[in-house]
Amino acid sequence: MELTKYHSLQKLPSAQGTIFYKLGAAGLEESYQLLADAINGSTTRALDLNAGVGVVSLALKNLGAKVLAVEERRASCRALQATAKDHAAIKTSCAPPWQLNQTGFETAALVLGAERGNDWVNMQLNAAAYALDMGGALWLAGNRKAGFERYFKWARKLLGRGQIVSRNKDTRIAVLQKTQTVPKPSPQEFLINTKLRGHELRFYTLPGVFSANEIDPASRLLLDFLPKKVAGEEILDLGAGYGALSLPLALDGAKVTLVEQSLVAVISSRNNFANANATARILHSDVDEALQKEDLFDIVVSNPPFHIGGHVVLDVAKAFVAAAHSRLRPGGRFYLVANPFLKYESWMQNLFGNVHEHITGRYKVLSAIKQ
Ligand code: SAH
Repeated sequence: MELTKYHSLQKLPSAQGTIFYKLGAAGLEESYQLLADAINGSTTRALDLNAGVGVVSLALKNLGAKVLAVEERRASCRALQATAKDHAAIKTSCAPPWQLNQTGFETAALVLGAERGNDWVNMQLNAAAYALDMGGALWLAGNRKAGFERYFKWARKLLGRGQIVSRNKDTRIAVLQKTQTVPKPSPQEFLINTKLRGHELRFYTLPGVFSANEIDPASRLLLDFLPKKVAGEEILDLGAGYGALSLPLALDGAKVTLVEQSLVAVISSRNNFANANATARILHSDVDEALQKEDLFDIVVSNPPFHIGGHVVLDVAKAFVAAAHSRLRPGGRFYLVANPFLKYESWMQNLFGNVHEHITGRYKVLSAIKQ
């Protein structure tokens, strides 16, 4: 895939109005559409807390509301900003759910981010409930197979009362009413104490980051496989999370650049580098979007994502391979770790003209050299 194709926005007509979408973005899943279709009543001030590309924000705007659309995933955010651009009533904000600087909403809409874990959902619900006025309504969307019933119970306990108002296959929509005061959301960081490449490390992780409670075993494997001497090398970490790959490499003397689309993960990695007195360039970025044209590297490392909004989608992984190729200096090396069922070899072979498989087992480590 060409990176220009990955980065381009596409226009999609919808019942709610024109949506902008791009590869890598979440926000076109079933829950978004069902919620946009179900939401009704008139409202003047609405919050769309996990806005994706803006499908629900448009529906809220069409009900007469001024909408604050909040989205922290960079790929979605880029599309959301384009969707909102033609509508003065929709303002966008890129912030974690617990950092909203506005309250007093009459209506809130939330598509549960169940694929990011219970702590994340807990924070989303708490933030939405807190931001509502007393008597305000929370419209909640989720999937029965991804814990909807349990999360609906949590939401009822938090807000007061509510009921399920719409069902389509496994997707559910509920409406709740805030009838009691709600505490301000305050995320609990999780502490991982670990040893990587000989360094005793502490990682603090915020809710919603990848592998929040332990270093991902695939990342550990990749770190053990990478060259022992990396001092002075310029390394790019694609999809850097909270810094599990980058921090030990920085402590080995490499000059690391992290690109990561989740703002919550970016905040976590900034903390982790500061606590370890290590330096890095940490960018909130959809693949290589935030890099400058001239930024090139000696080594690119990645444990690429293969899910978007809970579904297996390989667009981002494919863009990572393309970005690795375009961002390496001649002779530079790309190292990737993946589950064996993911067939990245052919993409690497096509772009780099070579690919090496080093480890096979529960995970595989692949590498390629830029010619
Ligand atoms: N390197 C980290 C995280 C690996 S998981 C570790 O080893 O622990 C893959 C990461 O890619 C996740 O943090 C995910 O948020 C990030 N990601 C997903 N889509 C992305 C995109 N479009 N651009 C940049 N990063 C992305």
